[in-house]
Formats: sequence, structure tokens, C-alpha cells
Amino acid sequence: MLNVAIIGSGPAGYYTAEGLLKSFGDEVCIDIIDRLPTPFGLIRAGVAPDHQSIKAVSRRFEATSLSANVRFVGNLSVGDGVTIEELLQLYHAVVIATGAPADRKLGVPGEELPGVVGSAAFVGWYNGHPDFATIAPPLDTDSVAIVGNGNVALDVARILAKTPGELSGSDIAAHAADALAQSRVRDIHIVGRRGPHQVGFTPKELGEMGELQRAYPVIEPADFPPAVADAALDPGLRKVVGFLREFAGRPPRRDAPVRIHFHFFAKPVAVEGDGKVERLRLERTALTQDGQAIGTGDTYAIACGMVVPCIGYRTSPIPGVPYDAALGRFANADGRVAPGLYCVGWARRGPTGTIGTNRPDGFMIAEEIAADAPDGDRAGPAGLDRLVAERDLYVVTFRDWQKIDAAEVARARTGAPREKFVRVDEMIEHSRS
Ligand code: NAP
Repeated sequence: MLNVAIIGSGPAGYYTAEGLLKSFGDEVCIDIIDRLPTPFGLIRAGVAPDHQSIKAVSRRFEATSLSANVRFVGNLSVGDGVTIEELLQLYHAVVIATGAPADRKLGVPGEELPGVVGSAAFVGWYNGHPDFATIAPPLDTDSVAIVGNGNVALDVARILAKTPGELSGSDIAAHAADALAQSRVRDIHIVGRRGPHQVGFTPKELGEMGELQRAYPVIEPADFPPAVADAALDPGLRKVVGFLREFAGRPPRRDAPVRIHFHFFAKPVAVEGDGKVERLRLERTALTQDGQAIGTGDTYAIACGMVVPCIGYRTSPIPGVPYDAALGRFANADGRVAPGLYCVGWARRGPTGTIGTNRPDGFMIAEEIAADAPDGDRAGPAGLDRLVAERDLYVVTFRDWQKIDAAEVARARTGAPREKFVRVDEMIEHSRS
């Protein structure tokens, strides 16, 4: 019997489990370990709460969890409750699937001012992640600047722009829904250091920006290259640029109080303010031949009370695991970190791609484990249970999580799929019920 521990219960972890079940069938025992009592990682705490259809993939992961050879071991922190070295002793293979939960830094003066809220924190806040549930972003401002031209920037802008009614069918955390209902934000600025041809948006996500009840996009037509240049773009990006051009041609909407301004060719050079964010200073950029943004020396400022950098993420290091600080992920060769130790998903390749990108990733790691043909006896799940008992740790099983799940569904607002518990102690209490 092959014993495998997967650290992290997000999409990369679950797809790896699927791949292992496909490769090894009944000859594998898999423990999926998570520091939280709740499974599904980014599906629960990263995917926007108004994108419920994307969250539906968790049903597939639920089926994997309920297979006889797989256990969810929640509320167990690796590096704290158990170490990597101990896991490597207990299992033939250990796969790190911890994602990239920390914000990349802007690296400009003023970044530490109150009112700068990184996307991991902001997204975690509206999604009810226990680490960020109490951050209280300053929404008592009429203007917010979002830095970055990827889908996370769109998620943040959309959540800020939507009406309470538009969010009613989502699983946004109650504290965020209440705070957003009181929000004074009227101008949302999305800042990109490059141009419309270099954005990381995808068509569906950008298209939603043109369909909001009380908000509309504002784009400067002069920011576009000549339309003939669009023909050279790949089809997805061409569609995105088509949306941007169409938005730029729309008249202002008198019925909509919230504006979403797209600023292209502008890079942040400082966050300014007296004790808190008051302005984001930008430098106009030009593109080099190879498409990089360089500053022109010409600066301007956007008045704003909050800055949300959505410029990518870094994996959090784990003691004893080689880390590539420059790339912000574990040092690895195609997912191999050290004998018996692998990484997968964002922890392997950095924060790019959709949920589905993790499927081939997870299957590849399963094939590598098969190719490495680990042998010898390992204590596996029974050994982990012994360690947990010795240390008097309380772990949450998948059945326990189903009790938390049922309690969240039972207390949902009318029309919402669930009301999440946002404190670990509440989750634990319900897991014991
Ligand atoms: P992303 O798509 O890589 O976008 C990051 C943005 O930040 C880019 O526009 C980048 O500009 C900019 N940036 C990076 N460093 C910067 C700096 N120092 N100053 C100014 N701008 C900077 O990342 P993301 O939005 O965090 O999304 C991560 C992944 O998750 C992506 O693959 C995304 O598509 C995916 N995602 C998907 C969905 C969905 O499908 N609904 C939702 C959310 C996220 P440059 O291009 O110039 O580097």
C-alpha cells in the first residue's frame, strides 16, 4: 500500500488525490491535511462569492473525500502540529499543495500606510477567511484604487460595485455584505502598468463589468492601439479587447452612481497620505519593444482612501522545504522538491491559471510519484493518528466538516447558499456537534 500525504485541500490538492486514485486505485491511502477545519482552499476562500458556478467543483472534491482510500485531516498545521520531516517518515510521498496565500508587494513608498489592503486580505475578508474576517477595509471613502489588470482586480472591483441585491445569491460573509451595503465608494480606479493589449482579464469576467446595476466602466479611447492591431491577438484576448473598446464607446450612465475607471499605462510610484491612504501616485509608462512598461517621468495622483494591490501572490515558506524567494514558490524541478517531497499547483508554478489548470498539474505529480516507485513500509494514516493522539491535537474529519457545512447552510440568509463561520473556534464547535 502506498501512503501519500497531501498538504492543502484546495484544487491542486484534490486533483492530485484524483490523479493518485487513477494511477494506484485501491493500492493507495491518501491523507489530505489542511490547517483550517474546512476543506477546498481557494474554492471556498478565493473564488468570488458571486461566482457560485465555479464553486460547484467542490462537489467533485467531496466525492473524492468520501472514497474509502482518502481522508480529510483538517485543523492540523504542518510546521506547527506536525513537521515536514515527520510526514516524510510516515508517508512514501508528501505533496505540498498550499497555494500562494501571501500578497506580492508593490515595493513603493507608503505601502505600509493604513488603507493599503492586499488582494489576499481583501478577498479573504469578503469570503470569510478566518485570517482576514476582522480587517475592516476602509469603505468610508468615495474612491478606491485597485492595482493590476488581472481577474483578481476585476473580482475586487465587481464586489465593491455590486448592490446588496446583486450579492444576495452569493455566499459573501455577512460582515462584508453589511459593510458593503454601507459603502460610500463611488469611484473605483483599476490601474494597469501596461495597455489594453497586455491585460490578464478573461472575457467572461470582463464582460460582467458592463452589466452591473449601479456601476459602469469608463475608458479613455486614446489608450487603444489602432483597431487593425487586434487581429494579431489570440482569440480570448481579442474578445477582451473587443469588450474594452465597446466600453470605451459607451456614453456615461446617468442612472448609475458608481464609475469603474480603467487607467492604462500607469504604474504606482508611491502611496501618499498623512497617517492613512489619501492618494495613489502614478507614473505614466511607455512600452518597450518587448512589451515591458517603463516610466516616462510624468506623474499624476488619484485621490483615494483605499488601495488594493491585486498584483499576484507568493507561496508561504514551510520550515525545512527549499524555497525560491525570487519566484515566491518552492524550489522544484517539475514538482520534485526532494526525495519523496513534491509540490503542485501555485506552490509549484506560481499564481497563474484557472482552477482547471490544476487538474493536469495534479495528474502529472501522481505520475511522477508512480515513476519514482517508492518502496518500504510506512506507518501512513495510522502513524499520523498516533502522533495526533500523543500531542492531544483535535483534527477535523470530512464527516466533521459535513456537520460544519450543514450548520452553515442552515443559517444562510434568504437566497444565499450558506453563511460561513469565520472563526476557527465556531467551526470546531460545530464539527463536534
Ligand atoms: P494576474 O492575472 O497575473 O494579474 C496580475 C496583474 O498585476 C498584471 O496586470 C500585472 O501586470 C500586474 N502587476 C504585477 N506586478 C505589478 C507591479 N509591481 N505594479 C503594477 N502592476 C503589477 O494575477 P491575478 O489577477 O492575481 O490572478 C491570478 C490567477 O488567477 C490568474 O491566472 C487569473 O486569471 C486567475 N483568476 C481567475 C479568475 C476567474 O477565472 N474567474 C478569478 C480570479 C483569478 P503585468 O502584466 O504588467 O505584469
